[in-house]
Amino acid sequence: MFLSLNLFFIFKFLKYLPLKQKYKHTVKEFKQLIESSDSILLATHVNADGDAIGTSLALAMVLKKLGKKVNVVVPNDFPEFLRWLPGNDLISVYFKEEKKVRSLVKSAQLLVCLDFNDPDRLAKAEKDILAFNGKKVLIDHHPNPKQFTDLTISDTGLGSAAELLFYVLREMNYDHLIDKDIAEALYVGIMTDTGNFNFASSYPEVWETVAELIKLGICKDEIYARVYDNFSVDRMKLMGYCLNEKMTIIPGSKAAYISLSLEEMKKFNHQPGDTEGFVNLPFSIRGVKLSALFLEKNDKIKVSLRSRGDFSVNDFSANHFRGGGHKNAAGGEWDKPMDEAIKRFVMLLEEYKNELS
Ligand code: 5GP
Ligand code: MN
Repeated sequence: MFLSLNLFFIFKFLKYLPLKQKYKHTVKEFKQLIESSDSILLATHVNADGDAIGTSLALAMVLKKLGKKVNVVVPNDFPEFLRWLPGNDLISVYFKEEKKVRSLVKSAQLLVCLDFNDPDRLAKAEKDILAFNGKKVLIDHHPNPKQFTDLTISDTGLGSAAELLFYVLREMNYDHLIDKDIAEALYVGIMTDTGNFNFASSYPEVWETVAELIKLGICKDEIYARVYDNFSVDRMKLMGYCLNEKMTIIPGSKAAYISLSLEEMKKFNHQPGDTEGFVNLPFSIRGVKLSALFLEKNDKIKVSLRSRGDFSVNDFSANHFRGGGHKNAAGGEWDKPMDEAIKRFVMLLEEYKNELS
Protein backbone atom coordinates (compact mmCIF):
# COMPACT_ATOMS: atom_id res chain seq x y z
CA MET A 1 0.00 0.00 0.00
CA PHE A 2 2.74 2.40 1.07
CA LEU A 3 4.85 1.41 -1.87
CA SER A 4 2.06 2.04 -4.37
CA LEU A 5 1.25 5.40 -2.76
CA ASN A 6 4.91 6.39 -3.01
CA LEU A 7 5.06 5.26 -6.62
CA PHE A 8 1.98 7.35 -7.33
CA PHE A 9 3.66 10.48 -5.98
CA ILE A 10 6.93 9.75 -7.77
CA PHE A 11 5.01 9.31 -11.01
CA LYS A 12 3.12 12.57 -10.48
CA PHE A 13 6.38 14.35 -9.71
CA LEU A 14 7.98 12.92 -12.84
CA LYS A 15 5.15 14.25 -14.96
CA TYR A 16 5.89 17.74 -13.66
CA LEU A 17 9.64 17.40 -13.88
CA PRO A 18 10.16 19.70 -16.86
CA LEU A 19 8.48 22.59 -15.09
CA LYS A 20 11.49 23.52 -13.03
CA GLN A 21 11.12 25.04 -9.59
CA LYS A 22 12.90 28.16 -10.76
CA TYR A 23 10.04 29.28 -12.96
CA LYS A 24 7.11 27.83 -11.06
CA HIS A 25 6.93 31.12 -9.18
CA THR A 26 7.09 33.09 -12.44
CA VAL A 27 4.17 31.08 -13.82
CA LYS A 28 2.09 32.17 -10.84
CA GLU A 29 2.88 35.81 -11.62
CA PHE A 30 2.05 35.19 -15.27
CA LYS A 31 -1.37 33.89 -14.24
CA GLN A 32 -1.99 37.01 -12.16
CA LEU A 33 -1.07 39.20 -15.14
CA ILE A 34 -3.49 37.25 -17.35
CA GLU A 35 -6.25 37.59 -14.79
CA SER A 36 -5.80 41.35 -14.55
CA SER A 37 -5.67 42.00 -18.33
CA ASP A 38 -8.63 42.18 -20.70
CA SER A 39 -6.69 42.63 -23.89
CA ILE A 40 -3.60 40.52 -24.56
CA LEU A 41 -1.21 40.68 -27.49
CA LEU A 42 0.98 37.72 -28.46
CA ALA A 43 4.07 38.10 -30.63
CA THR A 44 6.37 35.58 -32.21
CA HIS A 45 9.52 35.59 -34.35
CA VAL A 46 10.27 36.48 -37.95
CA ASN A 47 9.89 33.61 -40.44
CA ALA A 48 7.51 31.97 -37.99
CA ASP A 49 7.69 28.18 -37.99
CA GLY A 50 5.37 25.47 -36.68
CA ASP A 51 6.41 26.03 -33.08
CA ALA A 52 6.02 29.81 -33.29
CA ILE A 53 2.54 29.60 -34.84
CA GLY A 54 1.41 26.53 -32.88
CA THR A 55 2.42 27.95 -29.50
CA SER A 56 0.97 31.39 -30.23
CA LEU A 57 -2.37 30.02 -31.45
CA ALA A 58 -2.65 27.54 -28.59
CA LEU A 59 -2.19 30.32 -26.03
CA ALA A 60 -4.46 32.64 -28.00
CA MET A 61 -7.28 30.07 -27.96
CA VAL A 62 -6.89 29.44 -24.22
CA LEU A 63 -7.01 33.18 -23.53
CA LYS A 64 -10.10 33.52 -25.73
CA LYS A 65 -11.79 30.86 -23.64
CA LEU A 66 -10.98 32.95 -20.58
CA GLY A 67 -12.91 35.78 -22.21
CA LYS A 68 -9.89 37.89 -23.20
CA LYS A 69 -9.51 39.98 -26.31
CA VAL A 70 -6.54 38.37 -28.04
CA ASN A 71 -4.41 39.14 -31.08
CA VAL A 72 -1.26 37.51 -32.46
CA VAL A 73 1.43 39.41 -34.38
CA VAL A 74 4.01 37.85 -36.67
CA PRO A 75 6.67 40.07 -38.29
CA ASN A 76 6.30 38.62 -41.82
CA ASP A 77 4.34 36.07 -43.82
CA PHE A 78 4.32 32.48 -42.62
CA PRO A 79 4.02 29.19 -44.54
CA GLU A 80 0.84 28.01 -46.20
CA PHE A 81 1.15 24.62 -44.47
CA LEU A 82 0.39 26.31 -41.13
CA ARG A 83 -2.67 28.22 -42.30
CA TRP A 84 -5.15 25.41 -41.59
CA LEU A 85 -4.58 25.72 -37.86
CA PRO A 86 -7.63 26.86 -35.88
CA GLY A 87 -7.33 30.44 -34.65
CA ASN A 88 -5.44 31.61 -37.76
CA ASP A 89 -7.79 34.58 -38.13
CA LEU A 90 -6.30 36.05 -34.93
CA ILE A 91 -2.94 36.60 -36.66
CA SER A 92 -1.83 39.96 -38.08
CA VAL A 93 1.26 40.17 -40.28
CA TYR A 94 3.26 43.30 -39.37
CA PHE A 95 4.82 43.51 -42.81
CA LYS A 96 1.35 43.86 -44.36
CA GLU A 97 -0.57 45.63 -41.57
CA GLU A 98 1.83 47.95 -39.75
CA LYS A 99 -0.85 50.45 -38.79
CA LYS A 100 -3.18 47.82 -37.38
CA VAL A 101 -0.34 46.27 -35.37
CA ARG A 102 0.61 49.65 -33.92
CA SER A 103 -2.96 50.14 -32.74
CA LEU A 104 -3.07 46.60 -31.29
CA VAL A 105 0.12 47.38 -29.36
CA LYS A 106 -1.50 50.55 -28.04
CA SER A 107 -4.71 48.91 -26.88
CA ALA A 108 -3.16 45.78 -25.30
CA GLN A 109 -2.66 45.45 -21.55
CA LEU A 110 -0.23 42.53 -21.63
CA LEU A 111 2.34 41.39 -24.21
CA VAL A 112 3.44 37.75 -24.39
CA CYS A 113 6.47 36.92 -26.56
CA LEU A 114 6.71 33.31 -27.67
CA ASP A 115 9.47 31.09 -29.04
CA PHE A 116 12.34 33.59 -29.30
CA ASN A 117 15.09 34.74 -26.97
CA ASP A 118 16.24 38.03 -28.45
CA PRO A 119 14.10 41.07 -29.36
CA ASP A 120 15.91 41.36 -32.69
CA ARG A 121 14.04 38.20 -33.77
CA LEU A 122 11.06 40.52 -34.22
CA ALA A 123 13.02 41.99 -37.14
CA LYS A 124 11.40 45.14 -38.56
CA ALA A 125 8.49 44.83 -36.11
CA GLU A 126 10.81 45.07 -33.07
CA LYS A 127 10.56 48.80 -32.52
CA ASP A 128 6.79 49.02 -32.83
CA ILE A 129 6.04 45.91 -30.78
CA LEU A 130 8.46 46.70 -27.98
CA ALA A 131 7.08 50.23 -27.80
CA PHE A 132 4.41 48.50 -25.72
CA ASN A 133 4.53 50.01 -22.27
CA GLY A 134 2.76 47.42 -20.13
CA LYS A 135 4.08 44.18 -18.66
CA LYS A 136 5.87 41.78 -21.00
CA VAL A 137 6.25 38.03 -20.59
CA LEU A 138 8.51 35.62 -22.47
CA ILE A 139 7.77 31.91 -22.98
CA ASP A 140 10.70 30.28 -24.72
CA HIS A 141 13.13 27.38 -24.97
CA HIS A 142 16.19 28.98 -26.62
CA PRO A 143 19.44 29.22 -24.66
CA ASN A 144 20.44 32.45 -22.88
CA PRO A 145 17.28 34.53 -23.26
CA LYS A 146 17.93 38.30 -23.27
CA GLN A 147 16.27 40.21 -20.45
CA PHE A 148 13.75 42.22 -22.45
CA THR A 149 10.60 41.17 -20.62
CA ASP A 150 9.33 41.57 -17.05
CA LEU A 151 8.83 37.82 -16.67
CA THR A 152 10.85 35.09 -18.35
CA ILE A 153 9.58 31.54 -18.48
CA SER A 154 12.33 29.66 -20.25
CA ASP A 155 13.30 25.99 -20.40
CA THR A 156 16.13 25.18 -22.74
CA GLY A 157 15.83 21.49 -21.95
CA LEU A 158 12.63 21.21 -23.97
CA GLY A 159 12.39 20.56 -27.70
CA SER A 160 9.67 23.14 -28.30
CA ALA A 161 8.04 26.22 -26.82
CA ALA A 162 4.71 24.42 -27.36
CA GLU A 163 5.70 21.72 -24.89
CA LEU A 164 6.71 24.37 -22.36
CA LEU A 165 3.37 26.11 -22.86
CA PHE A 166 1.58 22.82 -22.15
CA TYR A 167 3.35 22.57 -18.76
CA VAL A 168 2.73 26.25 -18.05
CA LEU A 169 -1.00 25.86 -18.78
CA ARG A 170 -1.10 22.84 -16.50
CA GLU A 171 0.69 24.71 -13.74
CA MET A 172 -1.81 27.57 -14.05
CA ASN A 173 -4.68 25.06 -13.79
CA TYR A 174 -5.86 25.99 -17.27
CA ASP A 175 -5.37 22.47 -18.60
CA HIS A 176 -9.12 21.82 -18.50
CA LEU A 177 -9.41 24.51 -21.20
CA ILE A 178 -7.25 22.56 -23.65
CA ASP A 179 -9.65 21.24 -26.27
CA LYS A 180 -8.92 19.40 -29.52
CA ASP A 181 -8.13 22.62 -31.46
CA ILE A 182 -5.67 23.81 -28.82
CA ALA A 183 -4.14 20.33 -28.60
CA GLU A 184 -3.64 20.35 -32.40
CA ALA A 185 -1.82 23.68 -32.24
CA LEU A 186 0.41 22.42 -29.41
CA TYR A 187 1.12 19.21 -31.30
CA VAL A 188 2.16 21.11 -34.44
CA GLY A 189 4.70 23.01 -32.33
CA ILE A 190 6.09 19.88 -30.72
CA MET A 191 6.14 17.87 -33.95
CA THR A 192 7.82 20.52 -36.11
CA ASP A 193 10.47 21.66 -33.61
CA THR A 194 11.56 18.06 -33.02
CA GLY A 195 11.66 17.29 -36.75
CA ASN A 196 8.77 14.88 -36.27
CA PHE A 197 10.51 13.49 -33.16
CA ASN A 198 13.85 12.94 -34.85
CA PHE A 199 15.72 15.23 -32.48
CA ALA A 200 15.32 17.16 -29.20
CA SER A 201 12.72 14.63 -28.02
CA SER A 202 14.60 11.80 -26.38
CA TYR A 203 13.05 12.16 -22.92
CA PRO A 204 9.91 10.56 -21.54
CA GLU A 205 7.93 13.71 -20.70
CA VAL A 206 7.52 14.79 -24.30
CA TRP A 207 5.90 11.45 -25.13
CA GLU A 208 3.66 11.70 -22.07
CA THR A 209 2.60 15.12 -23.30
CA VAL A 210 1.86 13.75 -26.77
CA ALA A 211 -0.18 10.98 -25.14
CA GLU A 212 -2.22 13.63 -23.31
CA LEU A 213 -2.82 15.49 -26.58
CA ILE A 214 -3.93 12.29 -28.32
CA LYS A 215 -6.35 11.67 -25.45
CA LEU A 216 -7.83 15.08 -26.24
CA GLY A 217 -8.77 13.80 -29.68
CA ILE A 218 -6.00 14.90 -32.07
CA CYS A 219 -5.08 12.61 -34.95
CA LYS A 220 -1.32 12.87 -35.17
CA ASP A 221 -1.10 11.13 -38.56
CA GLU A 222 -3.54 13.59 -40.08
CA ILE A 223 -1.59 16.53 -38.62
CA TYR A 224 1.64 15.09 -40.04
CA ALA A 225 0.05 14.91 -43.49
CA ARG A 226 -1.35 18.46 -43.26
CA VAL A 227 2.10 19.84 -42.46
CA TYR A 228 4.54 17.60 -44.30
CA ASP A 229 2.49 16.28 -47.25
CA ASN A 230 1.15 19.63 -48.26
CA PHE A 231 3.77 21.07 -50.59
CA SER A 232 3.44 22.34 -54.14
CA VAL A 233 4.95 20.64 -57.20
CA ASP A 234 7.25 23.67 -57.54
CA ARG A 235 8.61 23.13 -54.04
CA MET A 236 9.37 19.47 -54.72
CA LYS A 237 11.15 20.44 -57.93
CA LEU A 238 13.13 23.11 -56.08
CA MET A 239 14.19 20.44 -53.60
CA GLY A 240 15.29 18.17 -56.47
CA TYR A 241 17.23 21.07 -57.98
CA CYS A 242 18.96 21.71 -54.63
CA LEU A 243 19.99 18.09 -54.27
CA ASN A 244 21.07 17.66 -57.86
CA GLU A 245 22.76 20.95 -58.56
CA LYS A 246 23.20 23.02 -55.45
CA MET A 247 24.41 20.73 -52.69
CA THR A 248 28.13 20.83 -52.00
CA ILE A 249 29.85 18.33 -49.77
CA ILE A 250 33.07 19.87 -48.57
CA PRO A 251 35.91 17.49 -49.33
CA GLY A 252 37.78 16.26 -46.26
CA SER A 253 35.14 17.57 -43.87
CA LYS A 254 31.83 16.37 -42.49
CA ALA A 255 30.03 19.46 -43.69
CA ALA A 256 27.72 20.27 -46.55
CA TYR A 257 25.89 23.33 -47.77
CA ILE A 258 23.15 24.37 -50.18
CA SER A 259 22.67 27.89 -51.51
CA LEU A 260 19.81 29.51 -53.41
CA SER A 261 19.74 32.90 -55.09
CA LEU A 262 16.63 35.06 -55.41
CA GLU A 263 16.59 34.27 -59.11
CA GLU A 264 16.67 30.52 -58.51
CA MET A 265 13.85 30.74 -55.97
CA LYS A 266 11.81 32.86 -58.35
CA LYS A 267 12.28 30.30 -61.13
CA PHE A 268 10.58 27.73 -58.88
CA ASN A 269 7.81 30.14 -57.82
CA HIS A 270 9.13 30.20 -54.25
CA GLN A 271 6.52 30.75 -51.52
CA PRO A 272 7.17 31.33 -47.78
CA GLY A 273 8.09 28.04 -46.13
CA ASP A 274 9.16 26.31 -49.35
CA THR A 275 12.78 25.94 -48.24
CA GLU A 276 11.80 24.75 -44.74
CA GLY A 277 13.69 21.53 -44.00
CA PHE A 278 16.13 21.80 -46.93
CA VAL A 279 18.98 22.39 -44.48
CA ASN A 280 18.43 18.89 -43.11
CA LEU A 281 18.70 17.13 -46.47
CA PRO A 282 22.49 16.55 -46.35
CA PHE A 283 22.14 14.62 -43.07
CA SER A 284 20.84 11.64 -45.01
CA ILE A 285 24.41 11.28 -46.27
CA ARG A 286 26.56 9.02 -44.10
CA GLY A 287 28.97 10.98 -41.90
CA VAL A 288 27.58 14.50 -42.39
CA LYS A 289 27.61 16.39 -39.08
CA LEU A 290 27.16 20.01 -40.13
CA SER A 291 24.88 21.48 -42.74
CA ALA A 292 24.23 25.04 -43.90
CA LEU A 293 21.59 26.61 -46.10
CA PHE A 294 22.27 30.04 -47.62
CA LEU A 295 19.27 31.93 -48.95
CA GLU A 296 19.56 35.21 -50.75
CA LYS A 297 17.17 37.89 -49.42
CA ASN A 298 16.74 41.40 -50.79
CA ASP A 299 19.25 42.95 -48.43
CA LYS A 300 21.28 40.04 -46.99
CA ILE A 301 22.03 36.34 -46.99
CA LYS A 302 19.96 34.31 -44.50
CA VAL A 303 21.97 31.44 -43.08
CA SER A 304 20.47 28.30 -41.53
CA LEU A 305 22.75 25.93 -39.67
CA ARG A 306 22.19 22.44 -38.32
CA SER A 307 24.49 19.94 -36.62
CA ARG A 308 24.41 16.42 -35.31
CA GLY A 309 26.24 15.58 -32.09
CA ASP A 310 28.33 17.95 -30.00
CA PHE A 311 29.12 20.70 -32.47
CA SER A 312 27.24 23.81 -31.36
CA VAL A 313 25.81 25.74 -34.30
CA ASN A 314 24.35 28.17 -31.77
CA ASP A 315 27.86 29.29 -30.81
CA PHE A 316 29.09 29.05 -34.40
CA SER A 317 26.25 31.25 -35.58
CA ALA A 318 26.58 33.76 -32.73
CA ASN A 319 30.33 34.04 -33.26
CA HIS A 320 30.42 34.21 -37.04
CA PHE A 321 27.00 34.92 -38.56
CA ARG A 322 25.37 37.47 -36.21
CA GLY A 323 22.84 34.85 -35.14
CA GLY A 324 21.91 32.27 -32.55
CA GLY A 325 19.44 29.48 -31.87
CA HIS A 326 19.92 26.08 -30.28
CA LYS A 327 22.94 23.79 -30.04
CA ASN A 328 21.90 21.72 -33.05
CA ALA A 329 19.70 24.21 -34.93
CA ALA A 330 20.59 27.84 -35.41
CA GLY A 331 20.48 30.65 -37.91
CA GLY A 332 22.01 33.98 -38.70
CA GLU A 333 22.77 36.30 -41.55
CA TRP A 334 25.63 37.68 -43.56
CA ASP A 335 26.18 40.39 -46.08
CA LYS A 336 25.83 39.92 -49.78
CA PRO A 337 27.18 38.70 -52.11
CA MET A 338 26.40 35.02 -51.66
CA ASP A 339 29.93 33.95 -52.67
CA GLU A 340 31.40 35.87 -49.77
CA ALA A 341 29.07 34.29 -47.21
CA ILE A 342 29.88 30.81 -48.51
CA LYS A 343 33.59 31.57 -48.63
CA ARG A 344 33.42 32.63 -44.98
CA PHE A 345 31.65 29.39 -44.03
CA VAL A 346 34.12 27.17 -45.87
CA MET A 347 37.09 29.06 -44.43
CA LEU A 348 35.72 28.70 -40.89
CA LEU A 349 35.44 24.94 -41.31
CA GLU A 350 39.20 24.80 -41.48
CA GLU A 351 39.29 26.46 -38.03
CA TYR A 352 36.80 23.94 -36.61
CA LYS A 353 38.36 20.91 -38.30
CA ASN A 354 39.10 19.10 -35.05
CA GLU A 355 35.63 19.59 -33.58
CA LEU A 356 34.05 18.33 -36.76
CA SER A 357 36.21 15.26 -37.24
P1 5GP B 1 16.01 28.48 -39.05
O1 5GP B 1 17.32 28.02 -39.59
O2 5GP B 1 14.96 27.42 -39.18
O3 5GP B 1 15.60 29.82 -39.55
O4 5GP B 1 16.21 28.70 -37.50
C1 5GP B 1 16.73 27.70 -36.67
C2 5GP B 1 16.85 28.19 -35.26
O5 5GP B 1 17.75 29.29 -35.19
C3 5GP B 1 15.56 28.70 -34.66
O6 5GP B 1 15.56 28.29 -33.32
C4 5GP B 1 15.64 30.18 -34.76
O7 5GP B 1 14.96 30.79 -33.74
C5 5GP B 1 17.13 30.45 -34.71
N1 5GP B 1 17.51 31.54 -35.63
C6 5GP B 1 17.33 31.57 -36.97
N2 5GP B 1 17.80 32.72 -37.50
C7 5GP B 1 18.28 33.45 -36.47
C8 5GP B 1 18.89 34.75 -36.36
O8 5GP B 1 19.08 35.48 -37.34
N3 5GP B 1 19.24 35.15 -35.11
C9 5GP B 1 19.05 34.36 -34.00
N4 5GP B 1 19.44 34.84 -32.81
N5 5GP B 1 18.48 33.15 -34.06
C10 5GP B 1 18.10 32.68 -35.27
MN1 MN C 1 10.77 26.70 -31.04
